[in-house]
Amino acid sequence: MRLCRFDDDRLGVVLEDGGLADVPEVLARVPPKRWPDLAGDPLIAALPQLRPAIDGLLDRAPRRRLSEVRLESPVPRPGKVIAAPVNYLAHLEEVRRDPQIHRSRRIAEIHEAGLFLKASSSVVGPARGPAVPFPDRRTDHEIELAAVIGRRVRNVPPQHALACVAGYLVALDMTVRGPEERSLRKSFDGATVLGPWLVTADGIPDPGALELRLWCDGELRQHASTADMVIDVAGLVALASRWYTLEPGDVLLTGTPEGVGPVRPGSRLVAEITGIGRFETVVRAGAEDEADA
Ligand code: MN
Repeated sequence: MRLCRFDDDRLGVVLEDGGLADVPEVLARVPPKRWPDLAGDPLIAALPQLRPAIDGLLDRAPRRRLSEVRLESPVPRPGKVIAAPVNYLAHLEEVRRDPQIHRSRRIAEIHEAGLFLKASSSVVGPARGPAVPFPDRRTDHEIELAAVIGRRVRNVPPQHALACVAGYLVALDMTVRGPEERSLRKSFDGATVLGPWLVTADGIPDPGALELRLWCDGELRQHASTADMVIDVAGLVALASRWYTLEPGDVLLTGTPEGVGPVRPGSRLVAEITGIGRFETVVRAGAEDEADA
């Protein structure tokens, strides 16, 4: 099932024919959250129970065209966005070759570097798009497969890790290059683009056999297979769960392959992962219009 959020928090199901079924009734069935127990996305947490109801609505749900709606992030505000720093060897070599990226630091590979966190306030959907907050500094695109955690879990072994994943989506991990910590350079408003929809895990039997492609202004810049990850998705979920309690709706970015490159306001990015889908998004100038975001 392909679930999207669109047009100011409507819930939709993307159908086989490319149409969109508008199913707002489902949201009334999402268990409400009460302070102080605010951890976890309640829609993602309840998805296994909600799916029969969603399926039951599809025949009579109003249809929309995908081209007519504004796609928002399928997970509106993840509790945390966990990210893998250098999880493709060809990208590690690219970083080590390019002084504009490595900035004279020694870049450790993922077994040494581990994981890092991005602010959940950095999350936007394709319609709002990524931002360039500091126009005088190089800001890069990084396409990544993202796994969305489905249930609360801690210390899960790799062989059980994929069972904890609710689904997958396409992510852009936008990055300001420079000397600061990753968690700062990758956490500005608009630094994390999630879309176009959540494909539930039953739709992705092998997350290690997907092709990623990213075009910037029509030029294919990144093209790789998730088979080339240093630590695979199950291994990353297991690793993350040893450091953090994972909650429903937490997003895990699995690292970017080679071909990262700079963007500027107006750059048109197309991000695609086979088996999930693609979105198009336009880079905007950041900061000045963010006060009311
Ligand atoms: Mn990244």
